[in-house]
Amino acid sequence: IQSTPGQTEFYQAVEEVLISLEPLLRAEPKYDQYNILERIVIPERQILFRVVWMDDQGKIQTNIGYRVQFNSAIGPYKGGLRFHPSVNLGIIKFLGFEQIFKNSLTGLAIGGAKGGSNFDPKGKSEGEIMRFCQSFMVELSKHIGETKDIPAGDIGVGGREIGYMFGEYKRLTSRFEGVLTGKGLNWGGSLARTEATGYGSVYFAENILNKAGDSLKDKICTVSGAGNVALYTIQKLYEMGALPVTCSDSKGMIYDKNGIDFTALKAIKEVARKDLSEYIKIRPNAVYIPLSDYPQGTNAVWSIPCFAAFPSATQNELNLTDIQILYKNGCRLVNEGANMPSTPGAIDFMISHKMFYGPAKAANAGGVATSQLEMSQNASMQKWTFPEVDSKLHSIMKSIFDLAYATSKEFGNEGNLMLGANIAGFRKVADSMIDQGAV
Ligand code: NDP
Repeated sequence: IQSTPGQTEFYQAVEEVLISLEPLLRAEPKYDQYNILERIVIPERQILFRVVWMDDQGKIQTNIGYRVQFNSAIGPYKGGLRFHPSVNLGIIKFLGFEQIFKNSLTGLAIGGAKGGSNFDPKGKSEGEIMRFCQSFMVELSKHIGETKDIPAGDIGVGGREIGYMFGEYKRLTSRFEGVLTGKGLNWGGSLARTEATGYGSVYFAENILNKAGDSLKDKICTVSGAGNVALYTIQKLYEMGALPVTCSDSKGMIYDKNGIDFTALKAIKEVARKDLSEYIKIRPNAVYIPLSDYPQGTNAVWSIPCFAAFPSATQNELNLTDIQILYKNGCRLVNEGANMPSTPGAIDFMISHKMFYGPAKAANAGGVATSQLEMSQNASMQKWTFPEVDSKLHSIMKSIFDLAYATSKEFGNEGNLMLGANIAGFRKVADSMIDQGAV
């Protein structure tokens, strides 16, 4: 911490993992003997670079680009790219650190990384987005490769941005290779990758409830976010017989008590890229609450009564006050589609009140798992059908749940999936680091 001051989100992510590891570290002195903790919190490599691009007025603009290659003990680096004005090194490091354990939990051979830029795609023209992505790739291309580091999307990076970056990578290297995932279906993408994080999150929640003899059927659910993860969480919730009644973006939230209209939401956010306030023009009976009207210190999404909450927007979007309100209103399950959406206070509350809690690194691992399925298809020059990919995703989410559950039981805390996921994810990486010597 002394050598990396001010990286608040990174410390938060590290603290959560390290506290969970205590029972394992007590039982297995080898991790201390090989100094694993000190090694695992330092990235193998972090790259910070200048991204210069020209806006539509002919003015030169500058942003900062990042790629943190955190850990390659079990496979090549893998993790998304985030374009958002809030991006800084601490945020990329928290995401990269989480990614190590998430990727390990999938059971697939992928190491942990994350990257991005403080570039704000909002309000930019198509040409500006393209020129930024191209300039970003000019530097990034020097550090990635299909067996080295394979970035994907995250906040602000979807199919369009992946396309511009892939085109530039090809131009720079003359190689058509699976260097990015989330590619278009005509040029190496996998069916069901777009849907995978949201679908996987719902499969994970269903596993939690099935274990307790319950299911999502007929349950009212709240969802935050209106991007990739939120959208396909909402779609899959309907398929499971649940009723998703909320969504949100950075300007406000929608409460539609009859259920969010998936088609309208997709048209507004994914296709037209407009604000959520447009939704009430199509569904006049829904309620729109602008951000400025949220009660201070709370996220209005969590004031809506529900059985299950699916935070799917961003980090620290569900705090202690929010969880207290959710609980009072009957909520019993929080399943994290976003990365680190719950604050430490909210997590403590969930655990002490014996709520069902699907922690991000397990619950949202379906996206990266399906990215690895995209890599497998690229490497073998095959193309699997949507049901084939979806069924693999379904079984990966079940095996992640089973592993996290079994590990929680092994360490005397049955059902604490945060502890189970952290220990199981860590153990495989740490053992691999020991096998590979002092590197
Ligand atoms: P998108 O960019 O597609 O959507 C993000 C959504 O969250 C948008 O609705 C956005 O609002 C909203 N949002 C973003 N930042 C804020 C903020 N600071 N305050 C309020 N709302 C905000 O991203 P994704 O759906 O891909 O990612 C959502 C979360 O899921 C992130 O935590 C990401 O790390 C995580 N995740 C994503 C995976 C993936 O495969 N895409 C995989 C695993 C985790 P607006 O529309 O106004 O911008």
